[in-house]
Amino acid sequence: MTVKGKVVVIAGASSGIGAATAKKLAAHGAKLFIGARREDLLKKQVEDIEADGGEAAYKTVDVTDKSSVADFVKAAHDKYGKIDVMYNNAGVMPNSPLRDLKVEDWERAFQINVMGVLYGIAAALPIMKEQGFGHFIATDSNAGHVINPNAAIYSGTKFALRAIMDALRQEEGPNMIRSTIVSPGNVNTALWKTVGDPELQKKARAREEEIGLDPEDLANAVLYAIDQPENVGIDEILLRPTVQEN
Ligand code: NDP
Repeated sequence: MTVKGKVVVIAGASSGIGAATAKKLAAHGAKLFIGARREDLLKKQVEDIEADGGEAAYKTVDVTDKSSVADFVKAAHDKYGKIDVMYNNAGVMPNSPLRDLKVEDWERAFQINVMGVLYGIAAALPIMKEQGFGHFIATDSNAGHVINPNAAIYSGTKFALRAIMDALRQEEGPNMIRSTIVSPGNVNTALWKTVGDPELQKKARAREEEIGLDPEDLANAVLYAIDQPENVGIDEILLRPTVQEN
């Protein structure tokens, strides 16, 4: 086990996949530093981890604000003195057909899903280069592989993320900095709430609740990616509910 004692920073850890992953990693001896906008949920999460004998701290962060992300990562580094893993997980899925011209939703999706991840990289990469080790993880999606109507923007953000994370892997792997994307199909979380269109929201919710993976299934995938010898890089884990076609 290499996860024990690793400092893991998670942006987007107040609910769903991020929250389940924080809990799982803490139970395996990682030191967590978690962030998102909803402070009450972060506080509760830290209390629960500590009650179970784990180590965690939190700071609110808005990933659309690069100085907020920089402050968040700095606070993690100040607290623990190193960052082994920077997990950029925050995301939204504002699905709608392009003809609806929900331009503000498009901007927001790229701000959170793409720029948020880039801000996380900008904040943590200098620290990792100074240390001589590190690991970036981002939550991509099967929508980063498969294109569907109404998901042009979401897929666009997740395709972009896949490109960015693989370039990062190629550039920094030789410097012992790893890059992993975890690409889920449907997961039973509250992500459907970020779908703007009411009809599409209803459909997304039904699908997530009917066939979605448990967030803990994703936590297991992230744990696997982290818990490797340093010469092993897990580039991507793509996992879907068995019954999901694409
Ligand atoms: P949730 O809605 O439960 O989690 C989303 C997380 O992102 C929350 O912690 C939320 O925190 C955070 N977040 C959103 N906006 C911001 C922001 N501006 N600043 C900081 N944090 C933010 O959904 P999931 O757990 O499902 O989503 C996690 C990731 O998984 C996303 O990237 C999503 O695209 C991806 N994914 C999910 C799938 C699914 O079926 N559920 C499938 C494929 C990929 P807060 O609101 O407190 O800020």
